[in-house]
Amino acid sequence: MDILKLMAKIILIAIAIWLILTVLKRYRKNIDTHPDTGNSRTPASESMVQCSHCGLHLPESDGIRSGTQFYCCQEHADAQQDERNH
Ligand SMILES: [Zn+2]
Repeated sequence: MDILKLMAKIILIAIAIWLILTVLKRYRKNIDTHPDTGNSRTPASESMVQCSHCGLHLPESDGIRSGTQFYCCQEHADAQQDERNH
């Protein structure tokens, strides 16, 4: 009988742990899918910009802003600025 009681306790503890883990997983999922966490890559709402040098389209956060112009990489930003200076 003592063994049965012990087993019942172990099963109860196991169920309690499983419940806690399930709740924690759901809680984490809610945090991950929350739109305000910020670190998500390239949200669909992000505006696309065009490189002023080569015409490549890229997300605004991936581009390099130079005044009102955007560039796909630092080289193109530099190249365009060199052209202006000449
Ligand atoms: Zn470019």
